[in-house]
Amino acid sequence: MWKWLLLIAAVYVLYRLFANDFLKKTKTDEKEDAEEMERKVAAGEMVKDPECGVYISADAEITVRDGDKTHRFCSYDCRDKFLQRLKEGGRQLPPEI
Ligand SMILES: [Zn+2]
Repeated sequence: MWKWLLLIAAVYVLYRLFANDFLKKTKTDEKEDAEEMERKVAAGEMVKDPECGVYISADAEITVRDGDKTHRFCSYDCRDKFLQRLKEGGRQLPPEI
């Protein structure tokens, strides 16, 4: 009978080790994803949508030119909201495309 208890204990310990590893790995992956994103932003490959904060490719086609700066958006919805916000703030920019 004690053999069974030992086996169950061993399986439980293995299970805990495996579960811990799995959780640790998931957390590391998330951290690496965030670091990868920061690297892409720093390299100019990705830009942040100023309206909703989503990261998008730096060659996204939905843009608004603001002087020598170009804002890029994930959707026309975001671009329109951004322009609306500027308008309410007393600025008006012509939408591109
Ligand atoms: Zn957006």
